Amino acid sequence: MKITDVKCILLSAPYATAGDDERELHLKTGLRSASLIKVETDADLYGLGEVYSGVYAPEAVAALTAQLADAVVGCDPSEILPLWDRMRLASYYWGRMGLSQSVIGGIEMALWDLRGKQLGLPVHELLGGKAHEAIAAYASGGNNKPADELRAEMQGYVKAGFSAVKIRINNLPNIEAIVQKVALCREALGSEIGLAVDAAQGLAKNPWTVKQAIETAIAIDPYHILWLEEPAEVTHYAGFAEIRRNVSMPVAGGETVTSIVEAESYLQADSLDIFQPDASIMGGIHLLRRVAEMCQRRQIPIAVHAWSSGVGIMGNYHAAFASPNCIILELPTVLNPLREELILEPLSLVDGKVRAPSKPGLGVSLPEDLEEKFAYRPGSYYQILGAYNERG
Ligand SMILES: [Mg+2]
Repeated sequence: MKITDVKCILLSAPYATAGDDERELHLKTGLRSASLIKVETDADLYGLGEVYSGVYAPEAVAALTAQLADAVVGCDPSEILPLWDRMRLASYYWGRMGLSQSVIGGIEMALWDLRGKQLGLPVHELLGGKAHEAIAAYASGGNNKPADELRAEMQGYVKAGFSAVKIRINNLPNIEAIVQKVALCREALGSEIGLAVDAAQGLAKNPWTVKQAIETAIAIDPYHILWLEEPAEVTHYAGFAEIRRNVSMPVAGGETVTSIVEAESYLQADSLDIFQPDASIMGGIHLLRRVAEMCQRRQIPIAVHAWSSGVGIMGNYHAAFASPNCIILELPTVLNPLREELILEPLSLVDGKVRAPSKPGLGVSLPEDLEEKFAYRPGSYYQILGAYNERG
């Protein structure tokens, strides 16, 4: 089998509901873009991958896909790691970190999907076999919205059987507003459900100082926080470490990492209690596994980040099922039809857990009418400047 083409499929789909601040602040069109990668072959098989960065820079992802395709077209798609290395070398002078690595990862993910389909095996089997029959999943939502809607959202998670939930505490005016939101969610969830909070300081105009992060952590500590995520600018490794030393709750982060170098920086600085790698950002599924192993040696659990559409979510889940130290999966709940439309086995919960996927490859497919139904709309990418301008 030979690779005949590597395509980037850009899509735009309705995202979140009116009043949800993620939509109001960052999505001018109400649509969110996505970039899927399709590796085509001379056989009747294709592989699908995803680059999460397509939410932020879809047309740049498409341009880099075309550039990197040259390094792999004509090659045997089963040679996944050698092909990854060809792309690494092809981009060495201009792309050792950042978007190019994410695009290489999207192509690598599609190669795993293709190989799994070719062999009739789920990707976690190709990664050495599943380390879990099922993994707990947390409902990832809790954007800023009116209080009654937020309360109803939390109660919905309890009803759906989640054992843990994550809410966002960025884009709030002050510490009182943060405490108020956390208290409301804790009350709606009851005492048994894990409550993680994402401070997302990587996306803040003025990220918290270490002192502000510690003060905030202490203020929300009475509400039994499962973890505090990204309480500092994402490359402030020493800041993460200092926050960790001064708060009682676990500190999590790592979703923006695009290289082993950045992953090592977190680990060497003792920055994290929980690492949150994402294969659709960091350079692929095998790199996620490598980071998971680096964490395992240090007894640091991982909790895969998965905020993309269905393909990227499944790429992360397969890596998670092959990682003994993965303790929980992110399951996004914000409205996004590109999740359900692409995943073949619905991600249903049993006792708060998702079972190991069983379909060949990543267990994803491209519905025939997808590109028509969710035609790409220029300008539908996530615009951080919206928050910058409106929040001052
Ligand atoms: Mg996060």
